[in-house]
Amino acid sequence: SDAARTPQERLETQVSTSEPSLFAKCHKFFAPDGDYARVKAAGLYPYFRPIERNEGTRAIINGREVIMAGSNNYLGLTSDPRVKEAAIEAIRKYGTGCTGSRFLNGTLDLHLQLEERLARFMGKEACIVFSTGYMTNMGVIQALTSKNDIIFSDKDNHASIVAGTQVSLADTVRYRHNDLDHLRRLLERAQAERPEAGKLIVTDGVFSMSGVIARVPELVELAEEFGAALMLDDAHAVGVIGPGGRGSAAYFGLEHKVHLTVGTFSKSFASLGGFCVGDRDVIEYIRHTSSAHIFSASMPPANVATVLKCLDIIEQEPERLERLWKISDYMREGFRSAGFNVWNSQTPVIPVVIGDMMTCFRFWRELLEEGVFVNAVVPPAVPQGQALLRTSFMATHTDEELDYILEAFHRVGKRLGVIQANGSY
Ligand code: PMP
Repeated sequence: SDAARTPQERLETQVSTSEPSLFAKCHKFFAPDGDYARVKAAGLYPYFRPIERNEGTRAIINGREVIMAGSNNYLGLTSDPRVKEAAIEAIRKYGTGCTGSRFLNGTLDLHLQLEERLARFMGKEACIVFSTGYMTNMGVIQALTSKNDIIFSDKDNHASIVAGTQVSLADTVRYRHNDLDHLRRLLERAQAERPEAGKLIVTDGVFSMSGVIARVPELVELAEEFGAALMLDDAHAVGVIGPGGRGSAAYFGLEHKVHLTVGTFSKSFASLGGFCVGDRDVIEYIRHTSSAHIFSASMPPANVATVLKCLDIIEQEPERLERLWKISDYMREGFRSAGFNVWNSQTPVIPVVIGDMMTCFRFWRELLEEGVFVNAVVPPAVPQGQALLRTSFMATHTDEELDYILEAFHRVGKRLGVIQANGSY
């Protein structure tokens, strides 16, 4: 059968039969001399690992309990009994799915409650909810920009922003990561050559791989000076940084100066979905023109109820955020003093740079064997030679779990020669 053939045999068959040429790259991807086969053969392939059970900071993988240090569940709310109960209650009342778009039969009173609540929480006039964060970036950018506009996008922006710039009919220019002198030069050029063009500056509020916070005050100044709209993707910022977890604009006290903030429900809010807040007319315009919003089914009831309950908890239990900030500092310091390079992370996302891709995969597997789950991130997601282990922490990690993670990193780091044997942790 086809499944029994090796990739090489499949490649040969492809050449000799009438299989569409489009598929040649698929066989090539798995060829024996490719990266995939090499990593698989070494038993180091780290992706698509099934989790058999998940209880916040602990997960069962391959029948064994591990400490989860690679989840975006920043407030640890996915396993909170109050949140689970709210989701179950919503299923009882509304069923399991909305089976239609918000535009037609898919709007529940719960969706409206959520939008009102989030607008208030974020200190903005209005809010629109999408079915994922990815769709939110795509849908907002596509709706707001057209042929005569220019999008200015940070080179390290999330893939969903890039996807938005690709579906948009506007021109996109990418500025060097966090390099606002470069952004200024691009804005000046655009102003000189196309003074009538509408301008959108878009950036991650917290960068998803490095944990670095965007330079919002300077971005606000540039947006004002050049008459551009400023959009922040706060997927890793809402429910994480700023007073009350209100995100990167609030972190700098600049909510009123940032035009649009996008967030996701797949991280601090323990659910799935996304949102965008801004001025009323702008949000209502997006609601009536965004393809991803109009032509895709709405968030299921359980997902909406989950977010509403998480908002209650975030507002009532500010100590969760305080703990998250405290342990992020603790972990950054712990990695640094052991001799690891954690770039200039400022949030609970802490990259541990390993360098070489195969060493990174080996480090990943040895950590798993030590009982710690993290995420291996290799090129092209990061620059060549900068393969890293992305760690991320939860308010619910215990001190013992955190120390265990640092000790495991230290042991494996020394074994693989990533850190000096005399690292001080
Ligand atoms: N933006 C950023 C910065 C992200 O990291 C992610 C998720 N990894 C998204 C958007 C997409 O969010 P979602 O998972 O809700 O689709």
